[in-house]
Amino acid sequence: MLRLPRVVRSLCAFASASTSSCMGARLSRPRRTLSNSATGTATAASVASATHAASNTASSSSASSRSLSTSSTAANNANTTNDAMAEELRTKVCIIGSGPAGHTAAIYAARAELKPIMFEGFLANDVAAGGQLTTTTDVENFPGFPEGVLGAEICERFRKQSERFGTQIFTETVTKVDTTARPFKVQSKDRTVVADTIIIATGAVAKRLHFPGSGEGEGGFWQRGISACAVCDGAAPIFRNKPLVVIGGGDSAMEEATFLTKYASKVYIVHRRDELRASKIMQHRAMSNPKIEFLYSSEVVEAKGDDLLRSVMVKDKKTGETREVEANGLFFAIGHKPASDFLEGQLETDTDGYIVTKPGTTQTSVEGVFAAGDVQDKKWRQAVTAAGTGCMAALEAEHYLAAMNDQ
Ligand SMILES: Cc1cc2nc3c(=O)[nH]c(=O)nc-3n(C[C@H](O)[C@H](O)[C@H](O)COP(=O)(O)OP(=O)(O)OC[C@H]3O[C@@H](n4cnc5c(N)ncnc54)[C@H](O)[C@@H]3O)c2cc1C
Repeated sequence: MLRLPRVVRSLCAFASASTSSCMGARLSRPRRTLSNSATGTATAASVASATHAASNTASSSSASSRSLSTSSTAANNANTTNDAMAEELRTKVCIIGSGPAGHTAAIYAARAELKPIMFEGFLANDVAAGGQLTTTTDVENFPGFPEGVLGAEICERFRKQSERFGTQIFTETVTKVDTTARPFKVQSKDRTVVADTIIIATGAVAKRLHFPGSGEGEGGFWQRGISACAVCDGAAPIFRNKPLVVIGGGDSAMEEATFLTKYASKVYIVHRRDELRASKIMQHRAMSNPKIEFLYSSEVVEAKGDDLLRSVMVKDKKTGETREVEANGLFFAIGHKPASDFLEGQLETDTDGYIVTKPGTTQTSVEGVFAAGDVQDKKWRQAVTAAGTGCMAALEAEHYLAAMNDQ
């Protein structure tokens, strides 16, 4: 969800009295400054959370190690990062990643007494431990929080729940895995975990473009009208009955633009080429929507406004002319980058780097390695769907281990 300035939050609070959803409407709630970046720099809050998590590592490790018979050798001595150097641990389930997918997998695996070890990452992929939700303010579509919940808060809750059931968490980024031999090996700078199964839940980051006004902080409208998630933010009062811009030319752009027409007075699709990449059916759907106008061979070169985004400067790439287009919202729909590079091609991925899973399962191309959340999902990319596949991955790992024992 987007961050709203005080004046708008007041309006929003007023609006929320009569509408079911309003981002940032809870004025009484302490608000953290989450100047975030889905692609690049981690937020102050994210860094704080990562630092906090880092300082927690030793205690969580030692606390968890008390109940971990599978984690071997040095687990009981894992009180400092230095002690942990070159440590080798053994587990049935190693989870890589700490968003809703990773933590849901951890909760299920821990409750099944599989004593999971999690690498939550240290600003891995430029995202703090806890995942993409640490980069947003209000999350209003996760069940169980009728008043909404701050992104950072729900991530903290996920982590606590994982720890409560005995997940051993290391605030380290996995740099290498070896899935060519069993048991598998998962490596960070400080330790190696030898695991019977691996659950990869490393997420993805939304790609963004960078031009004047596109960033966070002073003069930037990121989260003040600029977003990378129409489904998450599109219903916000600041976008209702207002002109909006979607950047992109693929299926996501068509889908997001069509979705936004439910709320917007008009939606411009700005695309840098003459032709769309989207499938014919998605193109047709967008083109036949009277609220959508296409600006081909064009690019947004600046975002302008006051407290909030008010307009964008659009350059015609053919004529070189630039014109101002009124827009209260700007949505990047130019794709996501899944965090799968560290796998070095050991698992099957699609051309965009998403891990391929067997339909209806979280099974990857390597038996015993499962993938959950956004790293394997280029379609839904929501916290609740990530959590759902995290649950599936843990249950599938449990079944796999049971079958191994039966052999
Ligand atoms: C700005 C924004 C707002 C959003 N708002 C909403 C919303 O309101 N509602 C909603 O449902 N969804 C929302 N989403 C989408 C939602 O955040 C994601 O769908 C969800 O977080 C995906 O969960 P995940 O567990 O797959 O991965 P992520 O949340 O991406 O977490 C993956 C974690 O793994 C870590 N990691 C990556 N590589 C490694 C490695 N090599 N070693 C160790 N750790 C690693 C990363 O650092 C990260 O912490 C939003 C997304 C963004 C960017």
